Amino acid sequence: MAYYNPDEIAIPNGHFSHGQLDSSTGHERHAVTRPSDGVVYAEIPIADGPYVDRVVRASYESFRSSDWATRAPRDRAKVLMRWAELVEDNCQYLAQLESLGSSRTYQDVLQWDIPYVADTIRFFAEMADKDGGYVGTTQSNRFGMVVTEPYGVVGAITPWNFPMSMAMWKAAPALAAGNAVVMKPSELTPFSTLCLAQLAIDAGLPNNMFNVVLGTGQVTGAALCEHPLVSRVTFTGSTQTGANIMSACALTGPKPATLELGGKSPQIVFADAPDIELAASMVAKAITGNAGQVCVSGSRLIIEQALYEQFIPLIIAHFKQLIAGKTWEQNTTLGPIISEQQLSRIESIIQKSISDGSQCLYGGERIIGHECGTYFQPTILKVTGCDDIAIMQEIFGPVLTVQTFTSEQEAWQLASHNTYGLAAGVHTSNLDRALRAVRNIEAGSVWINRYGRTFDHIMPTGGYKCSGIGKDIGKEAFEENRRSKTVMIDFDLNPSN
Ligand code: NAD
Repeated sequence: MAYYNPDEIAIPNGHFSHGQLDSSTGHERHAVTRPSDGVVYAEIPIADGPYVDRVVRASYESFRSSDWATRAPRDRAKVLMRWAELVEDNCQYLAQLESLGSSRTYQDVLQWDIPYVADTIRFFAEMADKDGGYVGTTQSNRFGMVVTEPYGVVGAITPWNFPMSMAMWKAAPALAAGNAVVMKPSELTPFSTLCLAQLAIDAGLPNNMFNVVLGTGQVTGAALCEHPLVSRVTFTGSTQTGANIMSACALTGPKPATLELGGKSPQIVFADAPDIELAASMVAKAITGNAGQVCVSGSRLIIEQALYEQFIPLIIAHFKQLIAGKTWEQNTTLGPIISEQQLSRIESIIQKSISDGSQCLYGGERIIGHECGTYFQPTILKVTGCDDIAIMQEIFGPVLTVQTFTSEQEAWQLASHNTYGLAAGVHTSNLDRALRAVRNIEAGSVWINRYGRTFDHIMPTGGYKCSGIGKDIGKEAFEENRRSKTVMIDFDLNPSN
C-alpha cells in the first residue's frame, strides 16, 4: 500500500527569486533520481556564476530597500509565525515532495520533519525581538553602546539528508535576525526548499529576502560562497566540503562561516546502564534512523565487555524488525541510501574493514529486489583496532561498529576520535561517571541515557574538531546572524576632555 503515487506529484522546478520560480531554460541541467526506485524524475537547472550574481544582487537590493531589516522585530516575527502556519497547512504536499526523492519516509516527514520545521521557524520568530545589544561604561560625558545588526545577504548551503529541516536551521535564524538569504539546496533533494521559499513569500516576506539557486556544489555553491555581496556563509554537509567552503570564504572575503559537518559519534554503554533493553533499542535506532544517514548517527558502539554477549542479540532483534522499502510505502521503516554512488562507498568500506580483520556480526550487504532502489542492510561490524577504516571514516549508512572495554578510562579513550567530535551518548546509572563523561568526551553534544536531538530548539547543535565551527539552532544561531556595532556619543563637549 502506498500513501501516494510518486509519478503524480507536481514538482516545482527552477531557481526562485523575485517571489517566483524562474523556469527559463538556457542552463546546463542536472538529473535528479529517486533513491527509492532509481527513476530519474526531474532535471534541475544549474545556476552559473553570472546567474548567482544576479540573484545575490537582487537579494542585496531587497535587504537595503525593503524594511525587513529595519521594521520592528515583532513585525518580522508575525510574518515568520504565519510562515510556520503555512508549512503546517501544506504538510501533506510538503511531505510528498520531501519523501519522493529523499531517504525520508512520508510518515516520518509528516510526524517529525514538518512539526520540527514549523517549530524551528517559531523558535526564531520568538527570538526576533529578544536581542538588544548593551550599554558600555565609559566616561561621564560619553555614552557608549553596542548595537547589533544583520549582516546583509547570508549564503546558505544545505545537504540532502533532512532537506527541509536543514533549510530551516539556516533560513529561520538568518531571516529572524533581519538578513536576506540565498540558499543552495543539495542537487539531490532540491524541491521542498523551493516550496518553503514560496510559502515564505505567501506569508508576507518581501520578495528576494529568501531566494533559492539550484545547481551543483562545484558550480553554484562555489559561486555563492565567493560572491562579494554575500557577507556570511552558513553550511551543513561533509567535512571536506566544509573545508573547501572555509577556504573560499577566506580567499574571497574573509567572511564568517558557520559549518555543521560530519560525525562519527560513539554510543558508550556501561554494564550499569539503567535499562539494558531500552539502551539497546536506543543504540539500534540511533544507527538506523534515516538509514544511518544522520550527522549524529551513533555509529560507534563502545560497550563494556561484561555486557557484550547479552547486548548484541538485543540490537539484532531490533534490526530484524525493520522493513526496507520505498519512502511512499506505508510499511517502510528503513528507507533507501541516497544514491548508488553512496551505496557503493558503504560496500567498499565494509569490504576493506572485513579484509583487515573485522567480523561482520549482522548484515553487511546491499538489499536487492527493489527495482533500481538503493538499500543497505543494517550492519554490525566488530572491528579489531581504532585505525580500522570503518572507525576512521564517516560511513553514512546503517553500519554500527563495535568495540569493547574493561575500564572506564578505556571507554573514554575509545570514544575520542582523531577527526570528529559531533555528539556522544553514554548509558550509565552512575551519576559521577556520567559527569566524568561530560568532562572527558570532546564533542559538541553529550547525551546521558538518551540519544539524539529533541524539539527543544533552545539547545544548540554544533561540532568540536572537524565536526564543525559555530552553532545551529539555539540562541547562538540567532546571534551568529547578527554582528555588533560599537557606538560612542560625546556630549557636554569640552576641548580638555
Ligand atoms: P556534501 O558536503 O557533499 O554537500 C553539501 C552541500 O554542499 C550540497 O548542497 C553540495 O552541493 C554543496 N557543495 C559541494 N561542494 C561545494 C563547494 N565546493 N562549494 C559550495 N558548496 C558545495 O554533503 P552531503 O553528502 O549533501 O551531506 C551529508 C554530510 O552532511 C555528512 O557528512 C553529514 O554528517 C553532514 N551533516 C552534518 C550535520 C550537522 O549538524 N553537523 C547535519 C546534517 C548533515
